[in-house]
Amino acid sequence: MSNIGIFGGGQLAKMICIEGYKMGLDFNIYDPNPMACSKSLANNFYVNDFLDEPKITEFIKENDVFTYEFENINPSLLEKYTDKIPQGIDALKLLQDRFTEKEFINKLDGVKTVPYVLASSEEKMDVPFIIKTRRNGYDGKGQFLITDLADLKQEMLTDDYIIEKYIEGIEEYSIVMGRSTTGEIKSYEPIKNIHKKGILHQSTFSFDLDKSIKEKMIEKTRMIIEKLNYSGVLCVEFFVKNNEVFVNEVAPRVHNSGHLTIEASNVSQFKLHLQCILGMKLPDILCRKNYYMINILGHDLKNIEDIKNAELLKNCNVHIYGKKSYAKNRKVGHITFENKDNLLNKVKDIVVGGVE
Ligand code: ADP
Ligand code: MG
Repeated sequence: MSNIGIFGGGQLAKMICIEGYKMGLDFNIYDPNPMACSKSLANNFYVNDFLDEPKITEFIKENDVFTYEFENINPSLLEKYTDKIPQGIDALKLLQDRFTEKEFINKLDGVKTVPYVLASSEEKMDVPFIIKTRRNGYDGKGQFLITDLADLKQEMLTDDYIIEKYIEGIEEYSIVMGRSTTGEIKSYEPIKNIHKKGILHQSTFSFDLDKSIKEKMIEKTRMIIEKLNYSGVLCVEFFVKNNEVFVNEVAPRVHNSGHLTIEASNVSQFKLHLQCILGMKLPDILCRKNYYMINILGHDLKNIEDIKNAELLKNCNVHIYGKKSYAKNRKVGHITFENKDNLLNKVKDIVVGGVE
């Protein structure tokens, strides 16, 4: 089996293809954006809407196995073809809505999120809280921190939003885990993340994390991946405060915080994902210490020319996704490097991360 269809043609699809070609695989990609950055890597690139049932059906008939690189496809259009979609559609059904996602997570034994209510609920929450759209939010979009009730827009108090307790001073971690169609599971070391304005800025493998917190996060991720009967790479984002572990959200796909696995691990999350969906034997995973990933956003790109020409480059791996527009706060690339000679701070002087 070597013909893989990918729903979504962004940078995640692109990095899946780059790994997959080394494995002798071929890819066809489906994305509504004719300029999607993975286009040049697809054998066939289908430009159609994600709601176009006949086109989706045609795409499905032309490929052997499927993956999705984002979670906002209508699951009912894929229902008939789940045997070709190792990630399954339960993950789509439950996780594309923050409310059903949180309900799902809190039903699992010993797993919890921070307190939340539907924005339309009679139940009130004290400030500070965050009001978030239930659907289609990413990179902090569609969410607003409310510290004074006077700032809360009344028209947001509908079923389309949830209100979530804002927890100050959290640490953020993610677990990137792969589960093969054979049921075999492998996980990377926990990844410590720093966000700026809701957008991931920095990730690094965390080796000094309390052992019981690490085990809790891995065990919770395993419960989630198994409950979803999901095969592929999946990422769970966690908040940690005072030794308490909360699930923030679950991404049923390869994840930005896992990009450092390309250089800082013996197997990248993209290769692991392909090994999982193809039912291959999974490798033991090794992770390197002191390795960092910094995201490059659209407004950083003028500085990227500096990076490209800078002395820094010789010790960094610079990934540029080749997007056609470099909008502010949009992820357009990332850099990984071993933090020697204060390189982390030098890179951060050039790459500023999330701005207003
Ligand atoms: P997205 O889907 O945009 O990634 P998240 O819910 O993960 O949305 O929020 C993005 C970031 O905003 C989080 O990684 C975290 O830094 C911050 N954040 C979100 N919810 C909370 C919260 N309840 N308490 C504290 N920080 C939060
Ligand atoms: Mg998030």
